[in-house]
Amino acid sequence: MNLCKKNLPIRSKYKEIAEKKCYRVHGHEGSCEEFPYLSDLSKNHPRVANKIKRDATKTTGAAWKSEDAGPNRIDRWVMLQDDEALLKFGLNMRALKPTVVAKLREKAATYNDCMDVAAKLTWLTYQMPDAPECPHEIKIYLESRFGSMTSEAATCIVCKEPLSFSLFENAQRGKAEIETAHANPREHNQENVGFAHRECNIAQGNKTLDEFYDWIAGILERARGQHSV
Ligand SMILES: [Zn+2]
Ligand SMILES: [Zn+2]
Repeated sequence: MNLCKKNLPIRSKYKEIAEKKCYRVHGHEGSCEEFPYLSDLSKNHPRVANKIKRDATKTTGAAWKSEDAGPNRIDRWVMLQDDEALLKFGLNMRALKPTVVAKLREKAATYNDCMDVAAKLTWLTYQMPDAPECPHEIKIYLESRFGSMTSEAATCIVCKEPLSFSLFENAQRGKAEIETAHANPREHNQENVGFAHRECNIAQGNKTLDEFYDWIAGILERARGQHSV
């Protein structure tokens, strides 16, 4: 599918290193939009729409409070810049703890990858069994980018159990039960991203899914071996 990709005005303080493009279909009528496929969720489930945008485009939102804990929630593509460039924007990476820097750098991703992730997460969201019905125009758009929507895709990428749209709702109480997850936590792109139960995502931690399953298999083997003695 050909997308418009026309540049949109940027208001961020990272103007010079930022990107903002139109993701409507090439040759569309009317005004350009960055997240055209989120119009329905933004109106009817704003919390879900905001989560998709935030998870796709921002570094993790740990509640960092102290000065050396680093900038809270920053565009992932900004983290592709080197220390010197970031200093010009008031981000002194050298003043941060190395572990914090590593964490921030790990979340870096190009604007295009982030935007693909946002659309992919929306495509997944509409496939949850209790999700709101996907408006026809949005369905056509998302299916032409990611393939036909079958509810099989709406499973936790870690435990493979189905995911319910209602799990998003708990976000308002500060503990979303559904999280954006990565088969490889160090790669933020559409092939590698999906949703997971909060507890599954926490259990996976910094391991790739393959490493995680091997680790679990080893534990089960040792635990069962002990029991049979
Ligand atoms: Zn456009
Ligand atoms: Zn799970």
